[in-house]
Amino acid sequence: MQYDILLIGAGPAGLSFARALSGSGLRIAIVEQQAEAALADPADDGREIALTHRSHRLMQEYDLWPRIAARDIGTLRDAQVVDGDDADGLLFSHAESGQSQLGWLVSNHAIRRAAWQAVQEVDDVTMLAGVKVAGVETDAQSARIRLDDGRVLEGALIVAADSRFSESRRALGIRADLHDFGRTMLVVRMRHERAHESVAWEWFRYGQTLALLPLHDPHTSSVVLTATRPEIDALLAMDEADFDIAMTRRFDNRLGAMQRVGPAVAYPLVGVYPERFHAHRYAVIGDAAVGMHPVTAHGFNFGLLSVDALARRIRAASAQGEPIHADALLADYDIEHRAATRPLYLATKLVATLYTDDRAPARMARKLALRAGRWAPPFRRLVMHGLTQPGDGMPLGHARKLMMRLRPR
Ligand SMILES: Cc1cc2nc3c(=O)[nH]c(=O)nc-3n(C[C@H](O)[C@H](O)[C@H](O)COP(=O)(O)OP(=O)(O)OC[C@H]3O[C@@H](n4cnc5c(N)ncnc54)[C@H](O)[C@@H]3O)c2cc1C
Repeated sequence: MQYDILLIGAGPAGLSFARALSGSGLRIAIVEQQAEAALADPADDGREIALTHRSHRLMQEYDLWPRIAARDIGTLRDAQVVDGDDADGLLFSHAESGQSQLGWLVSNHAIRRAAWQAVQEVDDVTMLAGVKVAGVETDAQSARIRLDDGRVLEGALIVAADSRFSESRRALGIRADLHDFGRTMLVVRMRHERAHESVAWEWFRYGQTLALLPLHDPHTSSVVLTATRPEIDALLAMDEADFDIAMTRRFDNRLGAMQRVGPAVAYPLVGVYPERFHAHRYAVIGDAAVGMHPVTAHGFNFGLLSVDALARRIRAASAQGEPIHADALLADYDIEHRAATRPLYLATKLVATLYTDDRAPARMARKLALRAGRWAPPFRRLVMHGLTQPGDGMPLGHARKLMMRLRPR
């Protein structure tokens, strides 16, 4: 066989996975449809990624973190959630977590660049860029990938990090639950008069959801607006001055006048959760495994968990001379990753649906939910535990095991 692992997709999850297995003695090939130049110097896609303490640790382990410049790293000290016209909201304070901050904020393109560089320095990963995977096949003997230039690659195992709309996942007959939230998210970096003090804001207003993510510069934040597609299109059609005025108004002038300093990019909101994370000689990681709604900022954090869970098992099997494609190994990975992600996937879906519903019963439920959170310190601690634990930080313990049983069959 030419390779041990055929990896589809050189996004942040795919590259992190290749780096995680480098040095294990396995031969890895990555196939990516984007050209090498676009991978080496990724375009700014407006996304700022909130990272947990566990992701921070894994990114250090995979040699990504030291490649990110200090000026590209924002501190997420505290987070404030406000509903409608509610004055107090719910504060997630670092002080309750025992850490100096809840997490970090890093631009997606800075993460992608770091992940690309980390893979350039190893000699056991072969990169095939600018070529698309046109087909996948597996049988008892091997796994094969057909490229759109006619070449066929053979290996022991296919690992797909080919996005939430994974074509290889569909080709292998794995069904997925796709949830279209009917909303679009606009992300744009903006400067503002008042300092953000490293506090993130999530503001569920009626008819729109607003968020502010504090960046390295005390007067610059990533602004995230969730609204209907026509509303977002109307904003994108404005000239810069009108856009700045419109955004300042949407934020009720809380941080003073705002001024756009980066590209404004719109993302349709679709959540995806497959029935399985594996098939024979095949596994999905990253968004191909769990496509999160960004409101709880967990997509890439979950992506890193999938990388860690699968790479750990493959390394151990390889070190003991056991097959890295064993069905039992892949099923075991599936169980761990499902347990780690399913509760928050379902909770996020619920929150995102509830907070875009402005009818009276939903408004009441929103207020009650925040009040319950405010008066229930254990709830706040549970959420913060998930953000700030560098180890196996999933906070839901037994609950997550229960939720695993909700696995669709
Ligand atoms: C607005 C927004 C805000 C976000 N905020 C956060 C946050 O705060 N925290 C967080 O943790 N996450 C966040 N995320 C999620 C995060 O951006 C994603 O989870 C992450 O980028 C997914 O990485 P990936 O490598 O799995 O997939 P992708 O980045 O989608 O990469 C998939 C790769 O596969 C390649 N590919 C696909 N099909 C083929 C094929 N047939 N052949 C060859 N190559 C192929 C693609 O070209 C691509 O390079 C956010 C997302 C959005 C949209």
